[in-house]
Amino acid sequence: MRDISAKILVALDEVLGTPDTSIPLHEPEITEQDKILVAKCLNSGWVSTVGDYVSQFEKLIEQFTGAKHAIAVVNGTAALHIALLLAGVRKGDEVLIPSLTFVATTNAVSYCGAIPHFVDSEMNSLAIDPDKLNSYLENIAEETKGGFRNKKTGRIIRAVIPVHILGQPAEINSLLAISKRYNLKLIEDAAESLGTFVEGKHTGTFGIVGTLSFNGNKIITTGGGGAILVNDSNLEELARHLTTTARIKSGVEFTHDQMGFNYRLPNLNAALGCSQILALEGHLHRKRTLAESYIKAMSAIDGIKMISERSGVKANYWLNGFILDSANLEERNNIIETTNAVGYQTRPAWMPMHFLPMYKDCPRMDLWGAEKIYKSLICLPSSSFLAHLSD
Ligand SMILES: *Cc1c(COP(=O)(O)O)cnc(C)c1O
Repeated sequence: MRDISAKILVALDEVLGTPDTSIPLHEPEITEQDKILVAKCLNSGWVSTVGDYVSQFEKLIEQFTGAKHAIAVVNGTAALHIALLLAGVRKGDEVLIPSLTFVATTNAVSYCGAIPHFVDSEMNSLAIDPDKLNSYLENIAEETKGGFRNKKTGRIIRAVIPVHILGQPAEINSLLAISKRYNLKLIEDAAESLGTFVEGKHTGTFGIVGTLSFNGNKIITTGGGGAILVNDSNLEELARHLTTTARIKSGVEFTHDQMGFNYRLPNLNAALGCSQILALEGHLHRKRTLAESYIKAMSAIDGIKMISERSGVKANYWLNGFILDSANLEERNNIIETTNAVGYQTRPAWMPMHFLPMYKDCPRMDLWGAEKIYKSLICLPSSSFLAHLSD
């Protein structure tokens, strides 16, 4: 076995113990309290899109994030789709997104008939590189009456979507400044960053709209679910309208005044959410403990660098991971294979979007950073209940 893989195995054993079978990358934690609330919802008969748990869950999200309004929806992808519509993204617009993201961000742009325009990421935050984005826009964007236009394609660049990767925040304040300079709507994909704050402000509340996910692999889960975060009450109203089939009451009848979507979160899922969100502080505490154990155990290994929070940031440590030094890039697959063979489920980063067949011809800048992260990042088992094993 190669030296670096052997050292990583020793560190994983120190943090997680020896696996009986396999330690997954991330597992949800379902408590007795969760089962009680879900059973209560089932017994009430209100399992679908009408019921009290949805508004209760939304209140709890608002309280935790500080967003004025939270609209609960069926998943994080649907939240992104509606977020783009709220931001005014229309057919033929370009939307700047990192190539290094989950495919949902890119798909949501396509659902609007808009064109994903890939921008590069940087190693520190794993998110959009603000300096590189700024000089790129200086080159390719020209101001018109309708907004800044991509000189090469002639299309309006309408919005930018910073994605907070693994629960570490993007350089959101710099990106916000760039978005103002170029008249771009800023939408935050905070699917992975519930519980992550930048200078005390929750991720997903910096731009015009933010989105969360409560998929089974996220920090809390509703089975499937997501939320749209906005501060503007007109946008809140529009989000509720669009996600409930754009339905309006007209006398004794219901009618629909535009093409809407059936995207509201069912009450049954919201019941689980009400219980899960109360456990969030506990998850955050244990994830931080687990991250500290990883950082301690891995710091002595030459050639890798653990991902850790930057100053001014409180990260949720949703997924732990490390970056291989340039000299060790060819070890990536070997490390992933060796650790998985022992029962530690590890995983590389997503394949960058510009490598996918349906997005390979989209406009893009040089994507050196995204490709570098893709070649060098390895994610580690990070379920919050793994933390107790380390003390
Ligand atoms: C999980 C995730 C989503 C989508 O959420 P779903 O609820 O699975 O639709 C979007 N973006 C990122 C970065 C994610 O990790």
